[in-house]
Amino acid sequence: MAEQESLEFGKADFVLMDTVSMPEFMANLRLRFEKGRIYTFIGEVVVSVNPYKLLNIYGRDTIEQYKGRELYERPPHLFAIADAAYKAMKRRSKDTCIVISGESGAGKTEASKYIMQYIAAITNPSQRAEVERVKNMLLKSNCVLEAFGNAKTNRNDNSSRFGKYMDINFDFKGDPIGGHINNYLLEKSRVIVQQPGERSFHSFYQLLQGGSDQILRSLHLQKSLSSYSYIRVGAQLKSSINDAAEFKVVAEAMKVIGFKPEEIQTVYKILAAILHLGNLKFVVDGDTPLIDNGKVVSIIAELLSTKTDMVEKALLYRTVATGRDIIDKQHTEQEASYGRDAFAKAIYERLFCWIVTRINDIIEVKNYDTTVHGKNTVIGVLDIYGFEIFDNNSFEQFCINYCNEKLQQLFIQLVLKQEQEEYQREGIPWKHLCASDKILEFDRDFRIRHYAGDVVYSVVGFIDKNKDTLFQDFKRLMYNSSNPVLKNMWPEGKLSITEVTKRPLTAATLFKNSMIALVDNLASKEPYYVRCIKPNDKKSPQIFDDERCRHQVEYLGLLENVRVRRAGFAFRQTYEKFLHRYKMISEFTWPNHDLPSDKEAVKKLVEHCGFQDDVAYGKTKIFIRTPRTLFTLEELRAQM
Ligand code: ATP
Ligand code: MG
Repeated sequence: MAEQESLEFGKADFVLMDTVSMPEFMANLRLRFEKGRIYTFIGEVVVSVNPYKLLNIYGRDTIEQYKGRELYERPPHLFAIADAAYKAMKRRSKDTCIVISGESGAGKTEASKYIMQYIAAITNPSQRAEVERVKNMLLKSNCVLEAFGNAKTNRNDNSSRFGKYMDINFDFKGDPIGGHINNYLLEKSRVIVQQPGERSFHSFYQLLQGGSDQILRSLHLQKSLSSYSYIRVGAQLKSSINDAAEFKVVAEAMKVIGFKPEEIQTVYKILAAILHLGNLKFVVDGDTPLIDNGKVVSIIAELLSTKTDMVEKALLYRTVATGRDIIDKQHTEQEASYGRDAFAKAIYERLFCWIVTRINDIIEVKNYDTTVHGKNTVIGVLDIYGFEIFDNNSFEQFCINYCNEKLQQLFIQLVLKQEQEEYQREGIPWKHLCASDKILEFDRDFRIRHYAGDVVYSVVGFIDKNKDTLFQDFKRLMYNSSNPVLKNMWPEGKLSITEVTKRPLTAATLFKNSMIALVDNLASKEPYYVRCIKPNDKKSPQIFDDERCRHQVEYLGLLENVRVRRAGFAFRQTYEKFLHRYKMISEFTWPNHDLPSDKEAVKKLVEHCGFQDDVAYGKTKIFIRTPRTLFTLEELRAQM
């Protein structure tokens, strides 16, 4: 229980602080971190500090301690939140979601995996084979997505370079019967270039380090990372990740999920084709660029199951329609290089989206008849790339940070604003909380004042990345591949040049639209929050950097969160519902009351139990300040 823990390990719920102040908040957060208590509640929100070391707190015995318990019965933990979301979903048939936020390296992805493991562990007591299969796939899909969507950055050795929202569907018994993954904007520029100290996506290193000689030979690859110009920057970096071992784990996961051997082969061929593309050089002969290393082109053609001359043509020319004529216009060297890189990025992005689609095909709910089995309910888990500031911030950081802004707004709206408005409606005094304004400044670069700090974005390459042009010739090239897996990834290659008229939406518009849809989706569900904090920038388990942590506590609005909860009330319910649940506790209300209103009846009941100091009476609802009162009510009810 919260109080029992408080002496030695600090306060388990920030709501229990003596005074709500930054120093006290920070002292408690630090004490708990130092004692290995990385989770702390703020009411129903879990604050988590990345321990940067393995803790023995996720095993079967811990899971058992949380299973089916009320949130406040056990010390704060991700499992408590997962269980609360699960219970709400099961008992009240509510769609719920768990939103995990925090900056890059704060521990979101690890948290999302523990949450999924917990849900998998507590469901399917009758061991139904189909449910076991679904659970296994949901868990296995993580490692495949991480191989292709995560990379070492200067902030995090396993940084998510895509956003992920996963729905887990449950049947009427509360067992998982399927799922669906939405992925958001992969940082595909990483395929062709990385900042110093960073790597490309794990998948490339895994293939080169872990692929057998036979696989590598068939792909015309050699083990040496530095042979490939697209990944040369990161080739020398020591990584905490064992790429060779991971290659086998991922290959096995793809197999278990249900990828066919020819699909897995195609995945490797695409990775290899990208590595070879990076090594293609153009030389200029007069005005016209030529390919310097023709052998590479034929390797690429072989890997992509297309013809060498067609690859060469797509690299050096583009087809344009001028009036009624269709002509082949020769690229400049710059255009040819641009085209090659755009092609490499695009086939990787397609590959990634295809992997997600394939996983979705396999895990989607099948054979569930709602008319027979009732509603199927959902728990959504959101793990998205965290807010980040690099030395050089470009279009990708702009999108990532925009996404984090939207989620922060949603948090303010759902957790803070709703409470404010509720108090106002109910006539309970409340001091207004303001969202901070953003300031936009232009120098050569531009600066945005984000909720989590100022970021200067470089405009270099910004417009190109936003336009995201891929010459139609490449799409046709892929559509005409004799490899059906590849061909299916490029359906729009079917269009001839005269049919391609519509200008595609820009990358930023597409991303914005997907964020709006995401936020609408989250807002339609009952949200549970995990707020992750990164204790230091050195990935050290020992250091609690006060300044860095305070900054995060500030911008995550955690102090406001505590105030809301405290000034605040942990629990509220309409008088009618409250009576319905607890009227048996008091002789004044059981079986019926003779008081003039439900509100009066509730007052009588509360006074009878002696809780009058812990509640406030709104116009239509009763507000209860501490969870303890609620528990006692529940216990009294259970004794009846
Ligand atoms: P990004 O936004 O860059 O994807 P993230 O918030 O998802 O960052 P994670 O990848 O979850 O960050 O965590 C970074 C690293 O911190 C992990 O690889 C792991 O080493 C460590 N870590 C995070 N959470 C835990 C935990 N609960 N226990 C032990 N180590 C952890
Ligand atoms: Mg992550």
